[in-house]
Amino acid sequence: MSDKIRVIVSGAGGRMGKEVIKLVLQDDELELAAAVDRSAGSIDAGRLAGLEECGVNVTSDFEAALAHSNGDVLVDFTTPQSAFANTTLAIKYGVRPVIGTTGFTPEQIKELDKQCQDQGIGGLIAPNFSIGAILLMKFAAQAAKYFPHLEIIEYHGDQKLDAPSGTAIKTAEMISEAREELRQGNPQEEEIIEGSRGGYYNGFRIHSVRLPGVFAQEEVVFGGFGQSLKIRHDSYERAGYMPGVKLGIQKVMEYTGMIYGFEHFIE
Ligand code: NAP
Repeated sequence: MSDKIRVIVSGAGGRMGKEVIKLVLQDDELELAAAVDRSAGSIDAGRLAGLEECGVNVTSDFEAALAHSNGDVLVDFTTPQSAFANTTLAIKYGVRPVIGTTGFTPEQIKELDKQCQDQGIGGLIAPNFSIGAILLMKFAAQAAKYFPHLEIIEYHGDQKLDAPSGTAIKTAEMISEAREELRQGNPQEEEIIEGSRGGYYNGFRIHSVRLPGVFAQEEVVFGGFGQSLKIRHDSYERAGYMPGVKLGIQKVMEYTGMIYGFEHFIE
């Protein structure tokens, strides 16, 4: 028997899904168990990703893929609307979820952790698989101890569905754990145009910029007396997430329960 990790990819026809197919087909330690996409049709998964045929046809039947493809891990990059149900179903079939789709609520994550614990399998929900973005979060959390006045600005393409980005939410959560409780700004402040000050989170603000041509960037701006500090990360292409996705696939085989955040794997 092969000791490769067998991967089911859902959202296989999406932009991230195609990169994951490429990763799995080109990596000696991984094997494509199934590729699921609701609208790609019955096309070879290799062809779908722009590679040679690989012998695995894309299916639209997610549950059949979980039941019959002998997958170890599900990698899901779909939409916030479908990813929760996909994750639940994968756990039911004992397939370990590695979820890149953003938009999960804390309650959903808690529920999925319980499901993983009950099944005795590992899971990962990672709003950002990019190592540079994780370092930004860690550095920002560290800086917030000394500079508690800050704002987060994130930039994505104009077709992104959720705002703020999962990465910005995760950054805000990590900052909040390190930062003293503080409501920034002037308490008498008034928005002349609604939303001008961005989204409110735990005393500070998050701004979501959505523009065509933008891929993914995040900036945390800190203000202190007579000085400011900016920490910024720029992603240029989806392939940059794949080393993180591979590490997630490997790690999820080793523990029980749902881990939220790729930073747990980066010391
Ligand atoms: P995308 O190109 O729009 O692909 C989405 C895929 O999901 C498509 O294959 C789509 O199929 C499928 N899909 C949509 N609705 C579905 C449903 N109800 N049921 C089943 N499948 C459905 O999006 P993307 O750029 O790849 O991004 C996907 C997700 O990954 C987003 O949540 C994004 O924020 C997240 N993301 C995360 C990271 C990270 O590092 N964690 C990085 C980049 C993106 P159809 O073609 O049939 O609609």
